[in-house]
Amino acid sequence: MQRELIEDAAGRIAGARCAIALTGAGISVASGIPDFRSPGGLWSRYDPEEVASIRALKKDPEKVWKFLLETDRMISRARPNAAHDALARMEREGYLKAVITQNIDGLHQTAGSSRVIEFHGNCRDYYCMECFQAFDRAGIEGGGLPVRCPGCSGIIRPDLVFFGETIPSDTHREAFQIAEEADLVIVAGTSGEVVPASLIPPLVKDAGGVIIEINKSPSAYSSVSDIFIQGSVERILPLIVQNLG
Ligand code: ZN
Repeated sequence: MQRELIEDAAGRIAGARCAIALTGAGISVASGIPDFRSPGGLWSRYDPEEVASIRALKKDPEKVWKFLLETDRMISRARPNAAHDALARMEREGYLKAVITQNIDGLHQTAGSSRVIEFHGNCRDYYCMECFQAFDRAGIEGGGLPVRCPGCSGIIRPDLVFFGETIPSDTHREAFQIAEEADLVIVAGTSGEVVPASLIPPLVKDAGGVIIEINKSPSAYSSVSDIFIQGSVERILPLIVQNLG
């Protein structure tokens, strides 16, 4: 029965005019990045308000930077898995227009996806909070904490969306523009709890589009998904790709 769902999903993707994917923490678990929200995830050990909020960054930047380095170590060890590879291949073969991700790990790009909208920013790009000079990851290595700008001694921060911050308007606009064009969305490894990313599948659906959902357990989307395939994304997405050609 799951085989039929996979074939059905592949047929819908092949027939779509503009298919996009929305991904979340679940797609990177097999790459060694536990879902921050899951038991054992970072938020079971840290209070995000204390280590990952804009308020904390201003109040206690050293503490936030210790947390950022721990996160960075975990992310820099991670490699894309079969789910990232499958989405990259779909794009290469013309089946997928874009990936909108809530992840900050950059694994879609490492896997070869070229149009990736990072809703919550990333850990590759950094900038000084005072003079806005840009730095790459090499620019933050060595030295004390918090990492400071060599030019003005301002605190350097990653270009990600901290708790208490809003999503940059250009990212928001790009994501919702492509969602408005889309007639199919693949929801992969995200349960739909975080606004505004969670609004994207219903937007596609309301315009007459199709939701294909792949999650380990039913989510907020499952009642509206046209096809819900229960399982791990790294197993299911490659099977869908096999059925595309
Ligand atoms: Zn500076």
